[in-house]
Amino acid sequence: MNNSETWHYTTDVLIVGSGAGALTAAVRAADNGLNVLVVEKTELWGGTSAMSGGVVWLPNSPLISAAGGEDSIAEAREYMRRVIDNPEQHARIDAYINSTGKLVQFLNDSAGINLTPNPHYVDMYPDVVGAKWQYRAHEFDPIDGALLGDDIHTLRRQHPQTTLFGFIGWTANDATILQTRAPGWLKTAFGLVAGYFLDFPWRLKSFRDRRLVLGGSLVAGLRMAAKIRGITMWLSSPVTKLISDDIGVVGVVVQRDGHEVRVRARRGVIIASGGFERNTELRNTYLPRPTDARWTAGSPGNTGDLLMEGLRLGADTRFLEEAWWGPTTLVPGEPQARMLIIEKNLPGSMLVTRSGDRFVNESSSYTKVVKGILQANNNGGESVPAYFIFDANYRKRYPCGPVYPSSVMPDWMLTRRLRKWLYKANSLEDLAEKLGIPPRRLVETAGNMNLFATSGTDKMFNRGGSLYDRIYGDQTNKPNPCLGAISTPPFYAIKVYPGDLGTKGGLHTDEFARVLNVSGHPIRGLYATGNCAASVMGSAYPASGATLGPAMIFGLIAADHIGLHSEF
Ligand SMILES: Cc1cc2nc3c(=O)[nH]c(=O)nc-3n(C[C@H](O)[C@H](O)[C@H](O)COP(=O)(O)OP(=O)(O)OC[C@H]3O[C@@H](n4cnc5c(N)ncnc54)[C@H](O)[C@@H]3O)c2cc1C
Repeated sequence: MNNSETWHYTTDVLIVGSGAGALTAAVRAADNGLNVLVVEKTELWGGTSAMSGGVVWLPNSPLISAAGGEDSIAEAREYMRRVIDNPEQHARIDAYINSTGKLVQFLNDSAGINLTPNPHYVDMYPDVVGAKWQYRAHEFDPIDGALLGDDIHTLRRQHPQTTLFGFIGWTANDATILQTRAPGWLKTAFGLVAGYFLDFPWRLKSFRDRRLVLGGSLVAGLRMAAKIRGITMWLSSPVTKLISDDIGVVGVVVQRDGHEVRVRARRGVIIASGGFERNTELRNTYLPRPTDARWTAGSPGNTGDLLMEGLRLGADTRFLEEAWWGPTTLVPGEPQARMLIIEKNLPGSMLVTRSGDRFVNESSSYTKVVKGILQANNNGGESVPAYFIFDANYRKRYPCGPVYPSSVMPDWMLTRRLRKWLYKANSLEDLAEKLGIPPRRLVETAGNMNLFATSGTDKMFNRGGSLYDRIYGDQTNKPNPCLGAISTPPFYAIKVYPGDLGTKGGLHTDEFARVLNVSGHPIRGLYATGNCAASVMGSAYPASGATLGPAMIFGLIAADHIGLHSEF
């Protein structure tokens, strides 16, 4: 069906979604001289990208050497090939590594967006050949949200865990300093709070921090670039159908203001509609059980609509059983799960099953911890939920979810909502009783941890044995920054689930981001990037920023490929 009389709107490129992948593709396509329409399902733009930490993994970017680091295509390729361990991905891996410089140049020169390589982030497998211990993860400079005009009101908010007190913006660097109590943490905290409250003119207008950081600054920078180029964005407009003829995809059906709008896309459709993490049925079909849509930290609109449409048109898929796993906890009153990123690495804590046993190196990567939870559960260990246990010393020094250290937020300050979430007891036995764990076993497990803390060696799971583990530990804690005694009452616990930041399996694409059918041929006019596409990272999670990086790079590549190929 391509009769122009049946179309309500015509554009060159139709982009589904408004996250990092979508907006990168939109701006680049406009720079390639194409008309672009961005269509977002929810009433807010930005997707999970806007809620995120905004860290983008760009190995061998030209900014690394400028920051004093060293990297090369050969090292990046070696690292990715070893960690991802999937020859089918080699062409995409090469396309990714070869395009990091192009992305940086595009963001800087065309969109006026600046990034800085972060000195604190280590690749998740630091001992693998080609790994780097700093600078591959890049962060976006903060942006003044007032420059967005009214669009700031429809920008999806940061996830509560990526803000100070749930509303003050902080950079990844600030967060690391505060959460690990690195030197200068008090000054950093004071500066952030003062900056927010002293912004009088804006405070009169809005509670929202206009200093956009992390994922907020990433998508805001792109949105500003899109606005300058006159790119139209429709909100509250889900794409419900891909329209194809016998050549390929030629448009979409959008639900808009209660009507079906048929949009013709003369040059192509780029799907950037996120994963299916919010779809219980699809989770049950594809992800390892048990699973639950409440355990994801991802954006509410991400229900896999376009994955299903791709399947209907004969697209192939990969890695549907995979997600960007992360141990999550459900804080009452918060709309999405929170991931435990730093908490699990800090000393004086452990994860146990319902039977009171440890089962994993708590300080290992998020993926490994979730795989550990699922494996323990499959082996009959009742680890869903698992319990994250810590003592008063931990509570005094470190944050856990929305609860700040008791030195600044003592227990009497906790609201009822938080007291419902945080279990507390004066002895480990009493805590065990509350959780339904055999008390003697929990005491024994904590006793083992206390021995490991003294010796500095976790004889069971080697927690704190790798550089990655230690980077989020407490550097002042000796001899091992991740190991501490759990011996000072009162004791605390929260429930932990095998959650995620989003799914990562989806439509099978090639190195040009073209969606492939089950025979391995591109479906003409159809591209995919971000979590709706099967990840170039396969089942691995090589580094922080390994989800936003590919979303943006393959968005750029898709826009370039469409730019080079003529109308059909
Ligand atoms: C707290 C948190 C921190 C994170 N930090 C990082 C980080 O620092 N670095 C990193 O790499 N990753 C991070 N992630 C993960 C990362 O944010 C996501 O993997 C990434 O944003 C996914 O991008 P995307 O473009 O695929 O989808 P999204 O950004 O989620 O965008 C998809 C959009 O498509 C829309 N959509 C869905 N269906 C339709 C439809 N039918 N029609 C129209 N629109 C539709 C959705 O509503 C959504 O707005 C984090 C995630 C969370 C939750």
